[in-house]
Amino acid sequence: MNTQAITRRNGSQGTLAVADIDEFAKRLRGRLVRRGDADYAGVRAIWNGMIEKQPALIARVQGVADVIEVIRFARQHDLLISVRGGGHNVAGTALCDDGLTIDLTQMKAVLVDASAREAVVQAGATWGDVDRETQLYGLAVPSGIISTTGVPGLTLGGGFGWLSRKHGYTCDNLLEAELVTADGRVIRASAKENADLFWGLRGGGGNFGVVTAFKFRLQPVGPQVVGGMILYPLDKAAEVLKFFREFTTSAPEELGALAVLRPAPPAPFLPKELHGKPVVAIVVCYVGDPEEGARVLKPLKEFGQPLADVIGPKPFTALQAMLDGGQLAGRRYYWKSEYLHEIKEGTIDTLIAQARQLGSPHSAILVFQLGGAISRVGPLETAASGRDARYIVNIAGAWENKQDNEREMKWVRDTWAAVRPFGTGAVYVNFMANDERPERLHAAYGTEIYQRLAALKDRHDPDNFFRTNQNILPARERRPAEVATVN
Ligand SMILES: Cc1cc2nc3c(=O)[nH]c(=O)nc-3n(C[C@H](O)[C@H](O)[C@H](O)COP(=O)(O)OP(=O)(O)OC[C@H]3O[C@@H](n4cnc5c(N)ncnc54)[C@H](O)[C@@H]3O)c2cc1C
Repeated sequence: MNTQAITRRNGSQGTLAVADIDEFAKRLRGRLVRRGDADYAGVRAIWNGMIEKQPALIARVQGVADVIEVIRFARQHDLLISVRGGGHNVAGTALCDDGLTIDLTQMKAVLVDASAREAVVQAGATWGDVDRETQLYGLAVPSGIISTTGVPGLTLGGGFGWLSRKHGYTCDNLLEAELVTADGRVIRASAKENADLFWGLRGGGGNFGVVTAFKFRLQPVGPQVVGGMILYPLDKAAEVLKFFREFTTSAPEELGALAVLRPAPPAPFLPKELHGKPVVAIVVCYVGDPEEGARVLKPLKEFGQPLADVIGPKPFTALQAMLDGGQLAGRRYYWKSEYLHEIKEGTIDTLIAQARQLGSPHSAILVFQLGGAISRVGPLETAASGRDARYIVNIAGAWENKQDNEREMKWVRDTWAAVRPFGTGAVYVNFMANDERPERLHAAYGTEIYQRLAALKDRHDPDNFFRTNQNILPARERRPAEVATVN
């Protein structure tokens, strides 16, 4: 065989000459991995084991010049492409069937300028990589709550975590991005340069180019913080969630808080007899003065009769990785999510009823507190949504075996249907599953942001070269009614 089957940008099937692929491989500094190579399966693997997409080619790029080379080659042969950062997106948008995946995971440099309180981060880094370097100076970028998540996808969708009530979304701390455009040019986007793109990159996902590096503002954090987890039996969930509501309503912005309903994971920091028992947990991180943190957390530590309490002083890097073990790569994952303005009595009853129906030992319902600095940025200042929400609920189905797909996905969908009446109607774009596009994308952003993103897509990617993502359609692919509302 001297041709390779491929998918074109419009979804049609075609072939590529192997000689052309060989030539292309030689032009890259990184390696081009092909289907059939011994390490293909390992290179292709992403966090969500449900995603079966098989790219024909995976370019493990080693720099901006490689990214340009890949974009030129894909353009020349009209190839479908996808862009992979940390590979954590639940919808599996990092991969594309029979296309060409731009894999950034070899580009992991993190350069900290402690005196300027800035860091330049290459797009293959994870948040664990970033924390490791920035914490040397007691600095951090507000990021997510799992250290193995990739920097690019999380930042481009908005990004929230323990530091967000104090310091805003991840994208609120972005100062500049270096990206390669759909026509293979390297440009910078910041408040001063390509400001329209800079707006869209802060929430609009991978719709406008391949970001090769991010420059972030750093915030003083740790290196010691007060945080951890306190667990109660699920039978006490009504009291615990009411306490969580009151506690988070009056808590200072230094506190990040999350409530979780799930079977207790087999975490090394939990007593063995608890593993697998249905629990409700409150997980916290206080990022100010440790003594003040102990005072703020006292009512929580004194509330009820916990099964276990592992809240205390710890390195920020340890807290950032504390929940990693419950989110192992390769399991099957399916999520649905809603923003909430408040936690009503009905919300609490619904969450508990659905937690009782939970089948898999790995599934969970998570309620994360938002607000604070997130809500002080105007709703249209960036493309990131959810600034008016005070909480976000994520219904996170996770299981091992394919034969359980239907049962576990049904639980997620049923739970979502029950929670929806209490939601704001919007959704966090980074928590959307692969079966919700494009219908929920409008809801994710709301009309005004969506329309601005669509106009930006027309300017910067009118051919929809970057389409394997939470895709904002350019005018030539929108239905007439949609075009009318955008123009
Ligand atoms: C276990 C887990 C925990 C999470 N926790 C949080 C959390 O606490 N807070 C939060 O906000 N989110 C969280 N998320 C969601 C997370 O923000 C998204 O999954 C995000 O897409 C992950 O980024 P990634 O780079 O790993 O994604 P990938 O799967 O690699 O990429 C996702 C998409 O982003 C785009 N993209 C990736 N890299 C680039 C690039 N360099 N240039 C242009 N586009 C690019 C592409 O469209 C790609 O399809 C979590 C996800 C997981 C799986």
